[in-house]
Amino acid sequence: MGGERRVCRGHAAYRGRRRGAPHRRRRDTGRRRREGWRVPDLWRGKRCGTSHFVPGVPGLPGHRAASFGATRDRGPVGRPGRGTRGDAARHRRAGARGEPAPGRGKRAVERLAGTPSAGGGHRGERGARAVSLAIGIDIGGTKVAGGLVRTDGSVVGRARRDTPHRSTSPNVVEDTIVEVVTELLAVADAAGDDVVAVGIGAAGFVARDRATVVFAPHLSWRDEPLRDNLQRRVRVPIAVDNDANAAVWAEWRFGAARGESNVVMVNLGTGIGGALMLDGKVVRGAFGIAGEFGHMQVVPGGQRCECGNKGCWEQYASGNALVREARSLMVAGSPLATDLLARAGGDPMALTGPMISDAARDGDPTATELFTEIGHWLGVGMANLAAALDPGLFVIGGGVSAAGDLLLDPARTMFRRTLTGRGYRPEARIVAASLGNDAGLIGAADLARGIREGDA
Ligand SMILES: [Zn+2]
Repeated sequence: MGGERRVCRGHAAYRGRRRGAPHRRRRDTGRRRREGWRVPDLWRGKRCGTSHFVPGVPGLPGHRAASFGATRDRGPVGRPGRGTRGDAARHRRAGARGEPAPGRGKRAVERLAGTPSAGGGHRGERGARAVSLAIGIDIGGTKVAGGLVRTDGSVVGRARRDTPHRSTSPNVVEDTIVEVVTELLAVADAAGDDVVAVGIGAAGFVARDRATVVFAPHLSWRDEPLRDNLQRRVRVPIAVDNDANAAVWAEWRFGAARGESNVVMVNLGTGIGGALMLDGKVVRGAFGIAGEFGHMQVVPGGQRCECGNKGCWEQYASGNALVREARSLMVAGSPLATDLLARAGGDPMALTGPMISDAARDGDPTATELFTEIGHWLGVGMANLAAALDPGLFVIGGGVSAAGDLLLDPARTMFRRTLTGRGYRPEARIVAASLGNDAGLIGAADLARGIREGDA
């Protein structure tokens, strides 16, 4: 995976030398010659013709395995200084399956599994070390969803609770998380599997230390030392991250953003959440709050936003915007809203986003027009983001993205119309997310596993 046929830059450099004086390394053989390429991390393969198969490009999941952890010897799983029983069991089981024991570093993995460095599984997700699970927890406004996640991103067990109301104490939320984790640990234990990390994806501002929730709009957390509070109650190492950061990581590792290392994710729900990945790394900002794209001002003096400002992007390109506009038509008594009003049982306040999606799919021109309108605003905002960040790909997630091309086609049109330097620059692609509601928990689990392994 991740490979493509192209002329290799190493080869081009080599040919460049041949036009001048022959490079002294031309006659070298073996490993030293390969390491002498001007771009050794792009290609470590054999002499090629005009093109060859590049097993990955820098920043791709498949390629990072080439240098990741090659000499690192990983310590025991679990809390520092602990892990004797779990480790012993893990090594026994790994041995029984003929797999390399965890905690021995990638070199040992490669030797035992016979996999090449480049193009092999990043952290072994192609099967070499698919023996450990991580728990991912996605804390949203309505539910706490948990899953047992394998190294290939598949979810093999689930648990779920309602999110405690924000008026309850932070302890109640922590109790809920611990309940979900405990339930999943029991599932893993019953199957004889090990859990190496727990990742928490929370809707809110998570500080750069990935331990503290600075602010969560749906919960009572304010400067909450969430990781440490949970770590006192759960033996497995815990990491906390923003839910959109977790989602972009999941889409990059396992979903719609595979193969592109510069990604902007825009999650359209009731508001707009977002996350940013540059050069294969999640960008969190100086304070951990990067990616709050929904509150960029796109209309000076426009609609009031709950953040306190006016004219924020999410007031024009979110589920709330969609429903607000539809309701305003209904309340105005417009005949254009007849179909929508019928779907809402005659009550504008009963109208929901999915009702509008259904109407648009059934061909209601008003619903289609509403999607076109928020799609246009989506395109305008993305063009602004492209001017600042120059991503190769926009991934559109969240509930509203289920509308698919009803939303994305007008977004692409307006993006092209407003992109800085249009006609003179490559255009980022705009695609729908592919992991749906699981992105947050899959990403949280995989990020937490990566922290343990020093790679996220
Ligand atoms: Zn705002």
